[in-house]
Amino acid sequence: MRARSGGGGGGGDGGGLPRALVLLLPLLLPAAAAASLAWLAGAGAGATGPDDLETRLPVAGARFGWRNLSCPACRVLFAAIDASAQLETSVEHLQRLAATVCVRLHLARPEVCEEIVRLFGRDVVTAWVRSVLRPAEICGLLVGQRCGHWDIYSDWNVTLPGTPKPPVRPPAPPPPGAPTARVLFLTDLHWDRDYLPGSDPACKDPLCCRGGRPRGAEGAGYWGSYSNCDLPLQTLEHLLRHLAATGPFDLAYWTGDIPAHNVWEQSRADQLQALRTISGLIQKYLGPLPVYPAVGNHESVPVNAFPPPFVPGNQSSAWLYHAMAEAWEPWLPPEALETLRVGGFYTLRARPGLRLVSLNMNFCSEANFWLLINATDPAGQLQWLVGVLQRAEESGEKVHIIGHIPPSHCMRSWGWNYYRIINRFEGTVAGQFFGHTHVDEFELFYDEETLSRPLGVAFVAPSVTTFISLNPGYRIYLVDGVYPGSSYMVLDHETFILNLTLANAPGATPQWQRLYGARETYGFATAFPADWDRLLQRFQVEEPLFQRFWYLLYKGHPPREPCQDVCKAALLCALRTARADDPKLCQPLASRFSFFEIQGWWRRQRFC
Ligand SMILES: [Zn+2]
Ligand SMILES: [Zn+2]
Repeated sequence: MRARSGGGGGGGDGGGLPRALVLLLPLLLPAAAAASLAWLAGAGAGATGPDDLETRLPVAGARFGWRNLSCPACRVLFAAIDASAQLETSVEHLQRLAATVCVRLHLARPEVCEEIVRLFGRDVVTAWVRSVLRPAEICGLLVGQRCGHWDIYSDWNVTLPGTPKPPVRPPAPPPPGAPTARVLFLTDLHWDRDYLPGSDPACKDPLCCRGGRPRGAEGAGYWGSYSNCDLPLQTLEHLLRHLAATGPFDLAYWTGDIPAHNVWEQSRADQLQALRTISGLIQKYLGPLPVYPAVGNHESVPVNAFPPPFVPGNQSSAWLYHAMAEAWEPWLPPEALETLRVGGFYTLRARPGLRLVSLNMNFCSEANFWLLINATDPAGQLQWLVGVLQRAEESGEKVHIIGHIPPSHCMRSWGWNYYRIINRFEGTVAGQFFGHTHVDEFELFYDEETLSRPLGVAFVAPSVTTFISLNPGYRIYLVDGVYPGSSYMVLDHETFILNLTLANAPGATPQWQRLYGARETYGFATAFPADWDRLLQRFQVEEPLFQRFWYLLYKGHPPREPCQDVCKAALLCALRTARADDPKLCQPLASRFSFFEIQGWWRRQRFC
C-alpha cells in the first residue's frame, strides 16, 4: 500500500522506489558519517569506520530505511554528511565506504551492494552538495515536521488567473441515448526481460523470478507469479493481442513505469530498450489507436532521478525525453513533442472539446533527489498547467489530466498547489487518471473552504504488473462523449485481470476476465465525485461492501490478513486525501485513531 508522509507526500511505487531508497540513502548516509567522523577523530585514529558504525548506528536508533530513521539519528547523519561535503570528501571514497557498510550489514548481496552504490552515489552526492537544505531542514522533510522546519519546501505558490472562477455547476448525467467513449488505461507494465519461468520466486533480491532454483515452493509461473516479480514479455504481448481483439477503444492513456524493478543494475541503454520495445509493441498491436503516455518514476536511471531543466549537460534528462519524443512521435503532435523534450510533459487536443494534459509527476516526488537543489515548481510545470487550464476554460474545452504518481504522494507544497488548481478549475477538469501504487484506489478532492463538497476525483488504476503478489490487470474508463457538448466526465469504469492461478495451471490457456464494474458493484447511477464521497460514508457502516473494496483493491488477490481497525481507518483517510499532510480532511471520518497513528500505519504497510 502507500504511505502518507508527514514530511510531504508518500512515496510508494509498487516497489522499486522505496526499495531503492531503503537500500540507497542509508548506505550513503552512514558512509558519509563514517568519513566525516573519521576525519573528526583525527587522521590515523582509525577509531571510526564501517566497523564502528555497525555498533554505533543501532544505538543511535537508526534502523535502515530513511522513513525509519529517528530524528536524532537523522540529525547526526546529515550533520556528518554535510561536514563531509564541506570537506570535499571524494565521491569515490564515499561510495567505497557505502558499499562496505552495505555488505557488512548484509543489506543485500555484495554484487547488489556494489551496483546500487555505484549507480546512485554520484548523483545523490551532487544533488546534496548543491542543495541549500541543511540537516534540520532535511530531517524535517524526511522524518516529519517534529524534527525540523523545511520552509524552503512550503512557501511557494503558483499564480492563479485574475479572472473570477465561473459559478459552480454540479455535473449532470448525459442526455438519454448520448454516446459513451471507451478509454483504455494501462499503467505500470514493468517488463522484466530476464524473467525466467521455473526460477526462484522467493529470492533475497528486490526482484525475483529471474534465476536460481526454487526452494520448496513452486517455481515462477509461465505467465507471472504471486511474488516480488515483474512480467515476462509473453504476458504483455498476450495482453496486447487480447486488447486488439476486444477493442475498439476511442483513446488510450498509458501512465508509465515501463522497466522492471531490478533498479540496482539498470543502465540508460536498458531503459531505452524497454521504452522502445514496449512502445513498438503497443503500436504493433493497437495500430491506429491514439495512445497518450505519461512519464513514470522507473523510466530513468537511477530510478526516480529526474533533474529539472536547470541541470544541464550529460546529467540532464535529455537522453530520456528525446528518446521518448522519438518513440511516441506517431501519437503526439509537434507542439507536444516540444515540451516533452524539455520537461517530460505536454498537452494536446485529444478529441473535439477535450484537451489532454500529461504531467511529469516526478517533479512532485520527494524520491526525486534532484529536487533537493530546488523544489519550487520544477520546470514551471504547475504554472504552465494553470495557463493551459485557463485557455481551456476560455474556449469551453474540458480537460483530462494524466500522470504517474498520484497527487497525495507528492511533496506538500506541490500537492497543495495542485489541489488549489483543481479547486479553481473544477468546471474544466473532467477527469484525473494516475497509477504508480499498483493497486486499485481513488483520491477525492473537496472544496478548500469547507473541505466537505466533493468536486473532483483522481482515479488510481491498478498495475499491469504482478509486483507484488497481484494478478496482472488493466482498466477501461467509460466517459461521456464524443458528441458536441460532451462533459467528458467518467461515467463508469471496468477492471480486467489475468487470474494467475488459472492461467499457470497445466494445459490452461490464459483468459483475461472482467473483475468488476464500478457502478454495478457500488450501486452508482453515475460515477461523479459525489458518488465516491457517498461510497466512503457507506464503507464506514457497510462492512461487507468495504471488504469487497479491499478485495478489488488488490485485483482479486488480497493479503491474508483482513483490513480492520487502524488499517481501515488509514485506508478511508487515504481515499479522502488528495493532498499530503492534511489531518483536517480525515476529521469527518471521526476515527478513534489519530492522524499520527494512521500515518505511522501507512509507513509500515506501504505496498512493497
Ligand atoms: Zn510501478
Ligand atoms: Zn511508479
